[in-house]
Amino acid sequence: MKVNVSDVEGDIDYKKLSKKFGVKSIQRYLKKIEPLDKIYRRGYVFGQRDFGRITKAIRKDKEFAVVTGVNPSGPIHFGHKMFLDQARFFQKKGAEVFIPVSNDESYFFGKVDTLEEANANAKSLIPDIIALGFKKSKTNIFISTKTPSVYELATRLSTKTTFSSVKAIFGFNNQTNPGAIFYGVMQSAHILLPQTKEFGGPKPVVVPIGIDQDPYIRLSRDISAKVGFVKPSSTYHRFMLGLSGGKMSTSKPETCIFLTDKPKDAEKKLMSAITGGRKSAEEQREKGGEPEKCSVFQYFSLLTDDDKKLEKIEKECKSGKRICGDCKKECVKHLKRFLKKHQKKRKKAKKQVDKFMLEG
Ligand code: SF4
Repeated sequence: MKVNVSDVEGDIDYKKLSKKFGVKSIQRYLKKIEPLDKIYRRGYVFGQRDFGRITKAIRKDKEFAVVTGVNPSGPIHFGHKMFLDQARFFQKKGAEVFIPVSNDESYFFGKVDTLEEANANAKSLIPDIIALGFKKSKTNIFISTKTPSVYELATRLSTKTTFSSVKAIFGFNNQTNPGAIFYGVMQSAHILLPQTKEFGGPKPVVVPIGIDQDPYIRLSRDISAKVGFVKPSSTYHRFMLGLSGGKMSTSKPETCIFLTDKPKDAEKKLMSAITGGRKSAEEQREKGGEPEKCSVFQYFSLLTDDDKKLEKIEKECKSGKRICGDCKKECVKHLKRFLKKHQKKRKKAKKQVDKFMLEG
């Protein structure tokens, strides 16, 4: 298993990672944030840091914010959507939403060949974010290098840490480009921005983030204490399974469904997905399938809000009553319906972009 800010490889042992990074289970807080979004009901979110601050703010109707970034190395896929869905969930609970689009990160870490590519991707995915249903009055989207106030904040925060701290947290070495080193401070600025004077001063902030990105949380927590801000809280969810068996990756379009995929193309990808099914229909009828290892089941769980329906699919799969070919066709129907609806909303959202942007 290899997990760091630029690479995730192998089978992820979430328990081991949580212990290593000091991440605690979210279980005891779930009752306090009911009614839950399906991502929480279905066990995708497993860990947290200082989440009690957020439940307290929700209970006492106090100001709080949620920050979740998007790395524009390509279009938005369902993995990104999980973060954005959590941000929307917190917005419904009263949070102001901040969505940094990290074109700098895409470039510094070699996820795109040119900064121009990252810029173009960043611009084209903003309508997708808006189309997911964020409230105009409580949403601030910004592109990292295009937002002077964020750069100014990063400049101020940079003097509150040292190269040796950044090196120890991220494991950088002499071959690391200086942009990647500075980006740690840039992301701290993304995370701490809601606590600046401009946004009403110190307050609880929650950051839904991948466990591979936890070093950024640790750095921003260190820095926050030095500038009189509240240490940011965080939540962690499981990575999605790739459609072709391994990890999902923007650079391998066959592994994921993008929100911009034509419904016909998405159908092809899902129909070719590796499932939790057996070698033959006969064996499947006898032994049943393994939905917990199935990317198609995962898409069902992210597309339907109906718990009973999902339970039925799971039972039918495990008992051998459900066969993968038919099951995929059923899932394709849900997926195409979702994409068609989303893409219509995306068209409308294109005209709304300026109203959601923090600056310019
Ligand atoms: Fe996955 Fe459906 Fe096959 Fe079960 S029947 S393994 S849920 S595709």
